[in-house]
Amino acid sequence: MIELETITKLIESLRKLPGVGIKTAERMAYQILEMKEEHINDFVLAMNNVKSRIKKCPICGSYMEDDLCPFCNDMERDSSSLVVVSYFKDALAFEKIKKYYGLYHVLNGSLSPSKGIGIADINIPSLLKRIEEGHFKEIILATDPNVEGETTALYLNKLLEKYNVTVTRLAYGLPMGAQLDYADELTLIRALEGRNKVGKD
Ligand SMILES: [Zn+2]
Repeated sequence: MIELETITKLIESLRKLPGVGIKTAERMAYQILEMKEEHINDFVLAMNNVKSRIKKCPICGSYMEDDLCPFCNDMERDSSSLVVVSYFKDALAFEKIKKYYGLYHVLNGSLSPSKGIGIADINIPSLLKRIEEGHFKEIILATDPNVEGETTALYLNKLLEKYNVTVTRLAYGLPMGAQLDYADELTLIRALEGRNKVGKD
């Protein structure tokens, strides 16, 4: 079998992307080979920049460009309200519906005993620190409506009992087993507006 090492290397790299199998990776590799050189250069530069310029906000865990978090640096936001999400893309889903103007906390994962992901592995310690030091009135638990997201919400709810804040959970609405950022805007608006108080009473 003829094998061109350079192409094989590219195929191997492409296969590291989620949902890309061998056939798709092969097709992509040959398409890249046909691309204009300037487009390939733009592509490479964009990939390098994303790694070198995007960082995680030390306060909320969101991705930020250079040293500016789009949420924590926005003084217009309501600092009494905090939406807790698993991933940055979920915060973006909230931004899209234009019904929420508070702050975010991105856990960068969900608790998963079966995968060995515990409290210290996701941004829970920084969340507790923020609640202790901030002036939040409401914490909205907006982790995914699947087993790991529910586990995380239940656990957070327990942890937050000792603080003087109202803890709410999105109404579902959202299909169970789904990922929050895949919900359509209307479903997400309903889930936010119909959110329920959890715990305490
Ligand atoms: Zn931030």
